[in-house]
Formats: sequence, C-alpha cells, structure tokens
Amino acid sequence: MAQNTTRIAGRHFLQIPGPAPVPDRILRAMDRPIIDHRGPEFQKLAKRVLDGVKWIFKCSGPVVIYTATGTGAWEGALVNTLSPGDRVLMCNTGHFATLWRNMAKRLGLEPEFIDTDWRIGADPKLIEAHLRKDTQHKIKAVCVLHNETSTGCLTPITEIREAIDAAKHPALFLVDTVSSLASTEYRHDEWGIDVSIGGAQKGLMLPPGMSFNAISPKALEASKDAQLPKSFFAWDDMLAANRSGFFPYTPATNMLHGLSESLDMLHEEGLDNVFARHDRHAEATRRAVRAWGLEILCRDPKYYSPTITGVLLPEGHDADAFRELALDRFDIAFGTSFGKFTGKYFRIGHLGDTNDLTILGALASVEMTLALASVPHRKGGVQAAMDYLIAAAQAPSRAAAE
Ligand code: PLP
Repeated sequence: MAQNTTRIAGRHFLQIPGPAPVPDRILRAMDRPIIDHRGPEFQKLAKRVLDGVKWIFKCSGPVVIYTATGTGAWEGALVNTLSPGDRVLMCNTGHFATLWRNMAKRLGLEPEFIDTDWRIGADPKLIEAHLRKDTQHKIKAVCVLHNETSTGCLTPITEIREAIDAAKHPALFLVDTVSSLASTEYRHDEWGIDVSIGGAQKGLMLPPGMSFNAISPKALEASKDAQLPKSFFAWDDMLAANRSGFFPYTPATNMLHGLSESLDMLHEEGLDNVFARHDRHAEATRRAVRAWGLEILCRDPKYYSPTITGVLLPEGHDADAFRELALDRFDIAFGTSFGKFTGKYFRIGHLGDTNDLTILGALASVEMTLALASVPHRKGGVQAAMDYLIAAAQAPSRAAAE
C-alpha cells in the first residue's frame, strides 16, 4: 500500500486569538436535526439563550443575537443609535479599531480618531481632554475596544467611563468586547456601557457566525431617533420578535444549540474561575516570552491582555516566516501581524477552552521554532511557564475552586 505522507497525527493546535477551538461538547450539541424555528421547541431554546447571554454581559436589559460575525454587531451598534453626520470618538488602538473607524466613515458618521502607537490600549486622559473640548456635545458616542485583538492590549473600561463622566459628557458609550467576553471581567450595567458588542468565536468557544449587542435603556431610547439606514440589523424588529421567543428571520438554530451548551459549560466552571484561568495562561505566556529574552508587543503592563500576547521578534527575523515554520513542523497556527508592525510580531492566543497543558504545548512549539529558525533567544521559556503554573496549581484558592 502506498504510504500517505500527508496525514498529521494528533490535533491541530489553533493558537490564534480566535476563532478559538470549539470543544467537542459544543460540536456534539450542534450536531442535531434542524427544528422548526417557529415551533415550541425552538421557542424554549431561544428564551433560554436570550436570557442566558445577559449573564455573560452582566446586562439586565435585552441582548440582541445576530446571525452575523462581530463586524455585523459593530454595524448594529452604530446604525441603531446614531444619525448621518454624527461625530463619534474612537481610539486607534490597532487593526480592529481601524476597521471599526472605517465602517463608521462608510456609514456616514464623522469619526474623530485618537492615536496610539498600537502598543497600549485607549488612554482615558486623552479621551477626557477630547470630550472637554466638545462643549457643544457634538460627539454622540465614544467607541472603544475592550481588547484590541491585533496587538494584545486591554483597555480598562471603568477608567474610560470615569473619563466620560469627569468631562460631564452625554455621549453614548459603545464597547467592543469581541475578544474579551467570557474570558475576563466584563460588566455592562455596572460599568455604564450603552452598547456592548460581542462575538461567538472566542471566549464563548463557538464557531464564527454569531454576534451580540447588549443594550442599555439609554441606547434603547437613542434608537428611537437614530436616523442611519438599517434593515437586517434593526433592533426594533428583533426585540419585538424576541419578546415571544422568536426571531424576525430564520435564525442560526444549531448555533443557538451550541450557545446553550457554551453557557452550561461556563456555568459549570464558574465565570470567576474562567477569568482566573485566562489570567494564569496569559501570565505563564508572558513569563516564557521574557525568559526567551524577547519583547512583548504591549509595552505597558497596565494594558496586558488576558487572551492574547503579541511577541516581537528581533530585527531581521520575519514573524510570518516564523509562523509558517511552526505550522509546517508542529501543526500549530499563531496569529498574524498588522499595520506598521507587519512581519515583526506574531500573536499567541490563550483564550477559550484552553488548559495548562495546551498552553505549555503551544509555548514548547514556540521555543522549538525559535531554535529551528535560528532566532537569537535564551532557552527556558517553557520552564519559566511551568514553574509559574506549578506554583499556581499549589495555591490553596485554586484547589478550593476545583
Ligand atoms: N472586534 C474585535 C476585537 C475582533 O477581534 C474582531 C475579529 O477578530 C472583530 C471585531 C470583527 O469580528 P468578525 O471578524 O467576527 O467579523
């Protein structure tokens, strides 16, 4: 029999910052016959998940579930709350913030973009200063990414809320939590957020193709006067249908089965334990990077991301060639680089259904690829991560939680 040299044994390591691997349990929950989306079984499922996602956002108001990726939920947040020509304040924290700004422009809004060097999150002081200058309150919304996926920088959202309040500015507060939701603390109500934008394919461990708008009473009020054209993304049709447990169009039924299972899994583990797990893996990763003598793209620990670490390679070493080598030799995918840093860094995703051994496997592949690619580094990154994870496993609080 001819030898098949194309088969790769074992599981592919999907270590990009989302889509994250989908657990078998969720795949099995989705693998079922389609049900009537206007029947009682669907109604029960829809009511369960529409209510269940509120717990993830910590939102007491409605959460809209779109059959669309995160980009759709960005659009939903803008078109339902704003009118043509409205000014919106946004922060250039990276590639995804830039895409959202570009969308705002295309929709006929007037974005004002506060710059960063892409190595930190949004700066509350700059936002406050900008809002203070807007004495006529022409800015109608402040739009910030909680976690900038392209760089691995997390913005402290409470500080941005405080900045808006300190400037006594009435703008709506729109927050993208696509790559932080169900991975780190997020409190829609308590943090005074008007629209939270979420996605399915990261902390919720689902396939891509579903996204969310969590809505405050102030945003709902604003939606009554918002004049941007909308149809598919309109909240009013959706909320009216959702009230009785249905959707205004054919919903992604099997994704909703998956979401129901995801919510069960997050309940079983406990959200605080999920967050602690993400923090632990982020810290283990950063310790490995430092032990290798490499630089973390996020330059200020205040903004370290619990879900993504960007790793800069030394001058003269191409990060894309590095990722290709890792994929070729170890069947592991790392995240690509963007903007002015293209080819200079790669991203390690440590989010979703990840455990200590998964992250150690990923770090081992980095250390082996550094050697194969002759990137100058010190050995011992995996050891540093292991030492940290051993200490964490010995901590009494973790033993009590598990
Ligand atoms: N916002 C953030 C922070 C993201 O990371 C992404 C995608 O990765 C998006 C928005 C856009 O989401 P999607 O690619 O699902 O349309």
